[in-house]
Amino acid sequence: MQPTDKLYFTDSSILEFDATVLDVRPGADGYKVILDRTAFYPTGGGQPNDTGMLGDARVIDVVEDELGIVSHIVQDGASVERGATISGKIDRARRQDHMQQHSGQHVLSQAFIQACGAETRSFHLGPTTSTIDIESPTPTDELIQTAEEIANAVIFEDRPMRVHMVNDEQAARLPLRKESAVRGSIRVIEIDNFDWSPCGGTHAARTGQIGLIALRSWERAKRMTRVEFVCGHRVLDDYRLAHNTAVRVARLFSADRDSSPELVAKALDENRELKKRTRDLLELAMTAEALESLATAEVVQGFKLIHAVFNGRDFDEVRTLAAKIVGAEPAIALLATKQPNGARLVFARSKSLIPDMGKLMAEACRVLDGRGGGRPEMAQGGGPNADKVELALEAVAKLASVVA
Ligand SMILES: [Zn+2]
Repeated sequence: MQPTDKLYFTDSSILEFDATVLDVRPGADGYKVILDRTAFYPTGGGQPNDTGMLGDARVIDVVEDELGIVSHIVQDGASVERGATISGKIDRARRQDHMQQHSGQHVLSQAFIQACGAETRSFHLGPTTSTIDIESPTPTDELIQTAEEIANAVIFEDRPMRVHMVNDEQAARLPLRKESAVRGSIRVIEIDNFDWSPCGGTHAARTGQIGLIALRSWERAKRMTRVEFVCGHRVLDDYRLAHNTAVRVARLFSADRDSSPELVAKALDENRELKKRTRDLLELAMTAEALESLATAEVVQGFKLIHAVFNGRDFDEVRTLAAKIVGAEPAIALLATKQPNGARLVFARSKSLIPDMGKLMAEACRVLDGRGGGRPEMAQGGGPNADKVELALEAVAKLASVVA
């Protein structure tokens, strides 16, 4: 079989065409259709395939083999007949989007050479953003911006983009940005007075059709720099998204869009201050609460025994309270807090006392159908059976006074 005649090679603006079906056969993903000529771009060179229709059949994938034969993978291809003439129609929006990203990449790659001599080593056209890997050891935000300026200037000048079919000899005389991957008949894309590059992809006829290029981010990747960018309508989509996000943030502060970063930074500062202040106040409150409960606590054999159950109180707070109680004078604190999914307990005693909090905790947790343990001076645990937490604390309070 002959290589498929690729209509997009000479004219990327062809979106409808007629062709003869050379072969059709069922496959795993649908039917595989081979035509004598096609305007469908097959996946390659970092650019995804076109989609569209072949007759009544939907084209979901297009691939090219090493012999240059293009296969169209279609759904519902039962009506496609070998030898018949069939009309092809390419999805315009997807083709235009790919042309904008891919043509933009040509412009951007030359822009990076002019900005810092960095050559492009790979290109990936993604569903929302694209990337190129450039050979630049030390990029900076300024350098990235310079390349962006050069690229957009070339777009605004609306320069012609031309396709040349040349042989090896002719190619050798052209100022190609990179070497051709093929020999013989070479397709070269020229951007007027700016860039020459061998390429098999689909391109705009003029740089103005790229619309705009925006570099979104960059990062070091395997001794190169990966630059993320968007072109054409994707820039508008990205601008709308970024604008709406910024406006929504600004509205939270009743401010205009561009002053929101300072306001967010200020709010975070205030939040840090408030957290510190809350910690300080909580510390004071805990000390006061510990002293108050000690003042009214029952005295058992020379120390004070405090047991209390709180409802929904923060467990860290309860732990702090227990530590403050046993730190102030000889005491045992048996504290619990009821939470939506059960009870959490902390038992603590002063250093001078004997009862083992770990053992008492194991006993309490048994009543609560839970688990817990710890050191003789301090233990924590909990269990799902929160209704029995008062009972559990009463029981271990008795044990604590007996052991002492
Ligand atoms: Zn190209």
